[in-house]
Amino acid sequence: MLTFAPTRDLIDRQRQFFASGQTKDVNFRRQQLQKLKTAIKQNTPAILAALNADLHKPEFECYFELSVIQDIDHALGNLKSWVKPKKVKTPLTYFPSVAKIIPEPLGVVLIIGPWNYPFSLMISPLIGAIAAGNCAVLKPSEIAPATSKVVSDIITATFEPEYIAVVEGGVETSQELLEQKFDHIFFTGGTRVGRIIMEAAAKHLTPVTLELGGKSPCIVDRDVNLTTAARRIIWGKFINAGQTCIAPDYLLVDRAIKSDLLVEIKQCIADFYGDNPALSPDYARIINQNQFDRLTALLPDEDILVGGQINRDELYIAPTVINNVALDAPVMQEEIFGPILPVVEYDDLDSALAIINSRPKPLALYIFSRNKDIQKRIIQATSSGGVCINDTIMQVGVNELPFGGVGDSGIGSYHGVSSFETFSHHKSVLKRFFFWELNWRFAPYKGKLEQVKKMVTG
Ligand code: NAD
Repeated sequence: MLTFAPTRDLIDRQRQFFASGQTKDVNFRRQQLQKLKTAIKQNTPAILAALNADLHKPEFECYFELSVIQDIDHALGNLKSWVKPKKVKTPLTYFPSVAKIIPEPLGVVLIIGPWNYPFSLMISPLIGAIAAGNCAVLKPSEIAPATSKVVSDIITATFEPEYIAVVEGGVETSQELLEQKFDHIFFTGGTRVGRIIMEAAAKHLTPVTLELGGKSPCIVDRDVNLTTAARRIIWGKFINAGQTCIAPDYLLVDRAIKSDLLVEIKQCIADFYGDNPALSPDYARIINQNQFDRLTALLPDEDILVGGQINRDELYIAPTVINNVALDAPVMQEEIFGPILPVVEYDDLDSALAIINSRPKPLALYIFSRNKDIQKRIIQATSSGGVCINDTIMQVGVNELPFGGVGDSGIGSYHGVSSFETFSHHKSVLKRFFFWELNWRFAPYKGKLEQVKKMVTG
């Protein structure tokens, strides 16, 4: 087996630093979060430039990534209560006793990120890792090289490597890191690579959080405000040119309103991006030619209702809506992860639910309907990482909601207190005292059997 001395040295140094106990001090964690916030604010122009270089991301959309600043504020505002041991009740037979759950940091954690939100998806988990008192190694995506470099520059200038370090590089770098033992691996990326990560982690019995993707369906019932529904769907689908893990992947539309909805959708795309979205400053590009080729292969020859224009040199794919899509069409097989929106119609809700339930569990599920019974029925009949009713994407911004997948869309969750919990071990502590003893459990058992029977079986 190969050995990778530089990586191992780095992790050894982090282990030594963790063992010094400094990261366990809550004030230390607060100071580091403050430092991170200051560094992000100071480097905002460089972050914006990098996101623009990698994805042609409109400045407005870059600020979604900079909302990690709010996540830091949220952690700073709540850390004191998060770290507090939580008292829990004990049974009467334990009298006298006290029981507590004490969160403690895991140690040295590895965070591997994707290219689509290459800044925030590195920093957001890092906030949880710092808040919980860990050391961390970050591996940004090599596919977004400008942002990878900015993340590396910011972290290197802000923290000592024995506390937080960035290791830049591609698949080999990731593999090299995965050879090492970490105390937790937090991975954001595709399902295929997620399997590789989990396999590598299993060798060291390292717990994982896998933030993966999938085909997130969007059901549009007949009882909706069509204009508002169209605007919210189109925004969620085409921000970052569709390269969003929780973008609505495909529409399942009640046949009764399909043609009216499509009229609204067409109008909405023109309103948002103009007659030629290639000229819009508000529309991102595809990350690279590999992804461009993968996406354009999904475009059919017919039934393109809007868009379909492409330019490989510019990595441009117009916001595209495909009508009358069959379930066995190429675009319905894998997560699209680009600006292509297939529209599938349904006659009754059961058939729409059957389509969803015949596929792997998605990261997000969207329901557009005013009808509360329908909302409830869909939530009960399906399983997904999260649900958003009458909007798209916005669920990700509620810090109080854990964000993560289920089944093929991921394992574990984060955001807000969930980030803190993900990077903590919840240690159970039971404390007894010497001043009283009930004696019910000690031998000889003679005369105590009836009592124990009553206690156990009621
Ligand atoms: P990816 O899985 O290709 O890569 C992610 C990371 O894994 C990169 O840092 C890469 O270097 C590393 N990697 C790639 N191949 C590897 C291998 N064989 N061994 C070890 N490491 C390897 O993902 P991506 O293309 O960057 O991102 C797109 C995917 O991420 C989509 O499926 C999307 O839905 C998902 N995603 C999920 C979330 C979420 O929060 N759940 C957010 C963003 C993206």
